[in-house]
Amino acid sequence: MRFSVLASGSAGNATLVERGDQALLFDCGLSLRELERRFAAVDFEPRALIGIVVTHEHDDHVASAAAASRRYRVPVFTTHGTEAAAGARLAAPFGLEYLVPDRCDRLGPFDLHAVLVPHDAREPCQFVVECDEARLGLLTDVGQVTPHLLREYADLDGLVLEFNHDADLLACGPYPPSLRARIGGPYGHLGNHQAAAMLERLPQPRLRHLVAAHLSEKTNTPEHVAALLAPRTPPGAACAIANQHAPLPWRALA
Ligand SMILES: [Zn+2]
Ligand SMILES: [Zn+2]
Repeated sequence: MRFSVLASGSAGNATLVERGDQALLFDCGLSLRELERRFAAVDFEPRALIGIVVTHEHDDHVASAAAASRRYRVPVFTTHGTEAAAGARLAAPFGLEYLVPDRCDRLGPFDLHAVLVPHDAREPCQFVVECDEARLGLLTDVGQVTPHLLREYADLDGLVLEFNHDADLLACGPYPPSLRARIGGPYGHLGNHQAAAMLERLPQPRLRHLVAAHLSEKTNTPEHVAALLAPRTPPGAACAIANQHAPLPWRALA
């Protein structure tokens, strides 16, 4: 199993997880044109897609999911709550199949664990993907680290973890107070120090790849993240920072 974060941030998210000639796309917040450009940039052949998993209804995750589903003739997998809240944006995909929080589903070669997360959406889930003994955790758009998350995201080979904002930059940033409160609140986004604290509380002895994701371009910088990320990356693991503008190269887990 290997993965590539194609885009990450409030202007659009997409991550590929591939094993052999089968792949899942997690979220589809880019335009179709941009998505194809990024597929090409990482040398991905979309014929390998077996489905599109939508984590929640926010536009940076769902924007072109239905259009991509029709284009590539693959179903969308999401929760009932996300489908209801997405409305027209998830209308008429090639097929729609429901995921249930805290259940495990087999999709092709992947075992997909849907993990309900605290975020201001109807039924938002993040995912742990298992394949060939390797475990990849995807965790963004989460307002707080709960004991449930610490249990579900233990013992991973790869982790894509939200480092959304720096608390000081958020406090003095350009957002109105209500938006600031939402982002920094318990159903908003994970700040740098919350993500760093999660890494400290959750040792990952077999981790091979750690990727910081969903950075705000207004209230965070890669330098702020790197200063916290590098010292908390387990020995033997590689770390990287995903961004909005270019895909990260494939990272192999098994
Ligand atoms: Zn988001
Ligand atoms: Zn969101």
